[in-house]
Amino acid sequence: MHPRPRIYVLPLGEEIGKDVIEIIAANLQVNFSLPAAIMAPQPLPDETYNAHRDQYNALSILKFIQSLPPPPEAKLLAVVNADLFIPILTHVFGEAQLDQAGAVVSLWRISRVNDGGAAPLPLFYERAAKLAVHELAHTFNLSHCLEPNCLLNYLPDLDSLDAQPLIFCRYCQMFLEEKIAKLFPRITSTETP
Ligand SMILES: [Zn+2]
Ligand SMILES: [Zn+2]
Repeated sequence: MHPRPRIYVLPLGEEIGKDVIEIIAANLQVNFSLPAAIMAPQPLPDETYNAHRDQYNALSILKFIQSLPPPPEAKLLAVVNADLFIPILTHVFGEAQLDQAGAVVSLWRISRVNDGGAAPLPLFYERAAKLAVHELAHTFNLSHCLEPNCLLNYLPDLDSLDAQPLIFCRYCQMFLEEKIAKLFPRITSTETP
């Protein structure tokens, strides 16, 4: 029997490719050593849209995620293809609840290059994977990290996202493994299925 999913990936809104969702789920599964499952897509809730800014409020999306039914101990990453903001910033690639269940990432800006053209598909997939792993790591109580070459560096723009390899520094990796083992002892133990 397979262990039940502990990470859920939820496509929210329109125009989200199945391929990128599967890549995100696979990368979460590998980087957190937890089973990941893809949920049925849902529309982006109207109340998360800000007409004045013509963007979606990442904090409202996190609030919406909290109201969803998955098991309380599970993690949930919403994926949207809309531009996100939080009140103090013009835009964000994603947002997460530190040490709680939910995170959200946006494909809107990472599907483009700096001059506004379409990003090559492999680059887009790589960015989506990095962003998803970065944001979900916050839900395991990891804050931003100052070590060079750690995916938990603050990644405010496409250049910093592209320059960062998909890897945690050894401190973050250790913290993460301890946290996961504590949260999900049965999954991370070596018991036979
Ligand atoms: Zn972050
Ligand atoms: Zn680190």
